[in-house]
Formats: sequence, structure tokens, C-alpha cells
Amino acid sequence: METFITIFQQILFLGVMGGAVYFITQRVKEIRNNILLGKSIDRTDKPTERRNNMILIAFGQKRMFDRPFVGLLHLIVYVGFLLVNVELLEILLDGILGTHRLFAPYLGGFYTFLINFFELTAWLVVIACSFFLIRRNIIKIPRFQSPEMKGWAEKDGNLILIFEITLMFFLFTMNAADTILQTRGAESVYVTEHYLQTGTFFGSLPFTFLYQGLGTTALILLERVAWWIHLFGILGFTIYVTYSKHLHIILAFPNTYFANLEPSGKLNNLESVQKEVQIMMSGEEPPMDENPEEIGTFGAKDIQDLTWKNLLDAYTCTECGRCTSVCPANLTGKKLSPRKIMMDTRDRMEQIGKQKTIDPNFDDEKNLYGDYITKEEILACTTCNACTEACPVNIEPVDIIMQLRRYMALDESDLPSSWNTMLANTENNFAPWAFSPTDRFNWAEELQTQN
Ligand code: SF4
Ligand code: SF4
Repeated sequence: METFITIFQQILFLGVMGGAVYFITQRVKEIRNNILLGKSIDRTDKPTERRNNMILIAFGQKRMFDRPFVGLLHLIVYVGFLLVNVELLEILLDGILGTHRLFAPYLGGFYTFLINFFELTAWLVVIACSFFLIRRNIIKIPRFQSPEMKGWAEKDGNLILIFEITLMFFLFTMNAADTILQTRGAESVYVTEHYLQTGTFFGSLPFTFLYQGLGTTALILLERVAWWIHLFGILGFTIYVTYSKHLHIILAFPNTYFANLEPSGKLNNLESVQKEVQIMMSGEEPPMDENPEEIGTFGAKDIQDLTWKNLLDAYTCTECGRCTSVCPANLTGKKLSPRKIMMDTRDRMEQIGKQKTIDPNFDDEKNLYGDYITKEEILACTTCNACTEACPVNIEPVDIIMQLRRYMALDESDLPSSWNTMLANTENNFAPWAFSPTDRFNWAEELQTQN
């Protein structure tokens, strides 16, 4: 009977694992295809600088420490969650081999130390997640109250924190039930063989007191249920993460590696326009181009006009709102929120990606420009770059805004009339003012006359 149960558990385990791996693989393919909807851009130069960037910002969470206390709590959740899940390795092997606490006999006292260390980390994760839940829902810090944070975005933030606390609860339950069962060896051979003496697990001690009164069969059931829920929880969490803002746990690494290494705030030029301006300013005749390149859209109208890095940025956004909290346009009551720009870009990309798998010629006659991000938002940006400076994962909302603004100006000719006057002056007078360049030094002549 025991052998039958063990084999049944092994089959169930392999089935669950197979299903989870299939779902995750499909989703990873979907995300990759969506990112590749963007235009190509070369980000392979300076590999050493890129690697250092990634280690410092993604792994070391350097920018999170601009706000040290919150940075520390984030680090605890991140490192703690990774460490606790080292235990997953044992769970996986136990599931495949039909064993229980496979490493315990080999590691001896070190095993007890490790589990105690994981439990301590698990408690720190619980404390940090509880703090974040209080901050979001009771203290209600302003950057989580913006209009774009209503609905799913708000639920997503809370859900993942509750998820992590629940996972830790089942970890403690599993260990507590196990510890009690270790003292019940005299009751059955199954218990003696399965629940080996591992020493005390201090983190789950409060739960041990809670479950002490349960009978042996109930305890075995509780331990097994907690084991399965812990496993289901981790697999479910992994699948869920691919649909949530927590994708940054993984994508922060490539995103910081492929980040823009140009000096902060430097805007890139539109090559075709730059060439024209250079010819115009030098006064030279433009050379005849034998094979003129077809110029597509100026700037960006929709997802396909942005680069793959812009789209990777959108998937990496943690929705933390640090960008919006320093944006001068947002702070002075304008409609612009750089966080919303990233969220809209991701929503539009997902929408197009999904539809294109059904119909490659899909066209819903909507665009990122206008239907998702409005003209008012695009015009409000001062290009100060504060959003990029504040972002903990090197995202550049301003790059997307500039590409949309270029489309608005060059393709749609849809700028406000006051801007058009300024642009016409720049073109004709090489300055935004309505004075001829030859009159530029008149003020100095007046000074000479006075002397
Ligand atoms: S660059 Fe634009 S979006 Fe970014 S902080 Fe400045 S005004 Fe806001
Ligand atoms: S762009 Fe960066 S700073 Fe802004 S919400 Fe996303 S992760 Fe946070």
C-alpha cells in the first residue's frame, strides 16, 4: 500500500512538473515574440561595462538603496525568496525519487543549520511583505494611488505579497508537522523510516505548538498537504510571475545589461533628419542617392515602430512609480505619468502579440499613439530625464515619449501652433526667437553707442 502511494505521488509529481514546464515554456516564447515585434537596435558594445551594470543594478539592487530602508526590505524579500527556494531542489528530488528529506542523512548537522537558516530568512520575508502590504493598503503612500494603479495593477501588487506570505506559512507548517512526527517514531514503521531525526527547526517552533495535539495520521496528512501546496505554490508563482509586473525578477538582468550607455539625458537623432539638417546648414548640394532608402514612419506610432529594448523595458517595469514621483510634469498636475507610459506600452504589446498569433494580418485600427497614450501626455514631457535617473532597473520612459512625439511632429504635423512657430523660427533663424540671425548682436551695438 505504501509503495503504491509513493508511486502514485511520483506520477502525480511528474505530471504536475511536466504541465508547469509546458506552460512556462509557452509563455516565455510568447514574451520573446512580443519583444521581437520591436525594431532592431545594437546593444552589444562595451560588454564589460554592461556586465558590471547588470551585477550592480540588477543583482546588487544598487539603485534601490537611494531609499535605504525600503531598499533593504526589498533585498530581504528578493534574496530571502531565492534562498528559501534552494529547498526546492530537495523537494524536486524527493518528488522524483519518492524519498523524504533526501539530503538530511548526507549533511547531518549542517542540514539542520541550513533549514534553520532558511526558516529565519522565511520570517524576514514575511515581515518585509507585511510591511509592504501595510504601506500599500493602510499608509497608502501617494505613488501607489495614481489612476494607473487602480484595478488589476493594485490587485497584482497585493496578490504577490499575500502569495509569498502564504508560501512561507506552508513551509513552516511542513517543517513543524515533520518535527512532531520525528517524535512519534514508536507508533509506526512508516513514521520511523520517513521522518528522520533532523534536530529542532526553530523558525517553525510556534507552529509545532499549534499542531502538537493532532493525531499521527492527521499530522502525516498535514505534512503531505503542506508539501504539495508548497510545491504547487512555487510552480504557480513561477507561472503567475510571467503574467505580472514581477517579471522584473528575471528581466531586470537582461534589461540592465542592454541598457543605454550614452551619457544621461542625451537624445538620439533621427538619422535621416540629421543628414538633411547637416546639408542645409553646410549649404552644400545634397549628393544624388542612387538607391534611396525608403523612409518609413518618423518616430513611433505603434509598438512595431519602437525598438525591442523599449519593449523589454515595458516588460521589466516594476510599476514602483519612482519615475512618476520625480516627474516635474506629473508633480505640477499634468496628465503625464512615465509609469503609465510603460504600462500602456506593455498592454498594447500584449494585445498585438496575442492577436497576431491568431491572425498575422491583425489590425484593430488602434495605435499606441492616441489610443493608449494621448497627445496631452506626450506634450507634457520636459525631457528632463529625471524618470530614467530614478528607475531602479534602468528603464527609459523618455525614449518612448520622444519617439511618439517625433511621430506626432513629423508624420502627423500635429503639434500645437505655438510649438510650430518655435520650430519654424529654429529652422529659419537657427534660434527659437523671431529675429533674424544677422540682428543677433544688435544689443552690443547699442551698448557701443551709449559709451
Ligand atoms: S523626462 Fe519627461 S517623463 Fe521623464 S521625468 Fe522628465 S518630464 Fe517626466
Ligand atoms: S519605469 Fe522604472 S521607476 Fe518607473 S515604474 Fe517602472 S520600474 Fe518604476
